[in-house]
Amino acid sequence: MTIKNFSLYKQASKQWLRAADFYQLESDVRTILQQPKNEISINFPVRMDDGSLKLFKGYRIQHNNILGPYKGGIRYHPMVDLDEVKALSLWMTFKCALVGVPFGGAKGGVTVDPSMLSGGELMRLTRRFTHALGSNIGPEYDIPAPDAGTNDRTMAIMMDTFMNAQAAYNRNSQRHVVTGKPLAVGGSLGRDKATGQGLVYILMEWAERNKIDLSQCTFSVQGYGNVGSHAAILMENMGAKMIAVQDHTGSLYNENGIPTLQLKQYVLTNRGIAGFKEAQSISNEEFFECEIDAFIPAALEGQIHEGNAGKIKAKVVAEGANGPTTEEAEAILKNNGVTILPDILTNSGGVVVSYFEWTQNKTSSQWTLDEVDGMLGRLLKEAFYQTHKISKEMDIDLRTAAYIVALKRLTSAYQERGIFP
Ligand code: NAD
Repeated sequence: MTIKNFSLYKQASKQWLRAADFYQLESDVRTILQQPKNEISINFPVRMDDGSLKLFKGYRIQHNNILGPYKGGIRYHPMVDLDEVKALSLWMTFKCALVGVPFGGAKGGVTVDPSMLSGGELMRLTRRFTHALGSNIGPEYDIPAPDAGTNDRTMAIMMDTFMNAQAAYNRNSQRHVVTGKPLAVGGSLGRDKATGQGLVYILMEWAERNKIDLSQCTFSVQGYGNVGSHAAILMENMGAKMIAVQDHTGSLYNENGIPTLQLKQYVLTNRGIAGFKEAQSISNEEFFECEIDAFIPAALEGQIHEGNAGKIKAKVVAEGANGPTTEEAEAILKNNGVTILPDILTNSGGVVVSYFEWTQNKTSSQWTLDEVDGMLGRLLKEAFYQTHKISKEMDIDLRTAAYIVALKRLTSAYQERGIFP
């Protein structure tokens, strides 16, 4: 179900402005953060397989770069619009500041349903969009990564297109223009599962503080793409049971547990979970009503809304997606005693390992999976600790606390550098 009758940018703004009020943020920083620095909007033509020429609309929004180069994913989805990409770029600014990686925030997208295009059309679309972005992206300026509807292959094509437009002697030093690349062209071990891995690390921190044994937990997942499938597999590896799952093709249930790895392989060939034999089909309503310990929204924004939030019986909602919970739904969940592990903390594993990939490219090195996972775990443990501490000290929810941790870092940078001129 897709809900698009609200402004995501308004939702994102309300979240950080609430934190700004608690933190008594100084007015200059508040003014600067209210709008993105640059909003790039591009109409570009793509030759389709039938010979026709089609015009597509793409965006790159660069929200803030006080802490480092702009950083954020590229989304391919039919609902992509300026409002959505602005919100996603804002969240990137706060996410990077919260986890302490030296990046600013950006996001991009193309309004397209990638499942309706052939491989050749997708390749031409990606090349033409990257070419149109031109010097608006760059390895020390603005570094895209995958998001919903894009993957490591998309990043390989973006990198190749960007590199080919550089002077020959300079090409190989531009590899870190994108992250989330395949291993063969400079990707990092652990990047594919990084967001799901990070989510599980955050759930482990929450569970430890609440004396909950995750290995005995049941969970449900909405969205079985990159984030959802990796989170589910890692949870199952720890002994937890996925009893319900939903994607754009339907919802499934099995009280004995749905085999997560088998489902991932099924989705790769069938482009959705519908028809998977190890579970029974259930309605959207039944999916939200399932008795579970943890709910992992890992699809798109606005999926938990006032129409279904009251049905969720989980102890915790671990936000894998960006902005999955509307303001109204958040109030309902809080009222029902459900803890929300906020997106900017819970799904930050992707950008953290993107930072590791970027660093490996810059230093021509290759870290082991243990090194990547170990450093990711340490960074996220610290981010959770800081967030939890502020939440307790100020008696506020974890989302607001996470924004305050980020605001402290952003404010310090502005104080040290001053505001130009
Ligand atoms: P993806 O394209 O790999 O998977 C998206 C999943 O959502 C698919 O299973 C799809 O079927 C499902 N879906 C789409 N519309 C749906 C609907 N209306 N109802 C139920 N399911 C639906 O995307 P992804 O990369 O896994 O990203 C998912 C979310 O996580 C997005 O909000 C994205 O911004 C966020 N995120 C992704 C990363 C990353 O590293 N990929 C990092 C941080 C945050």
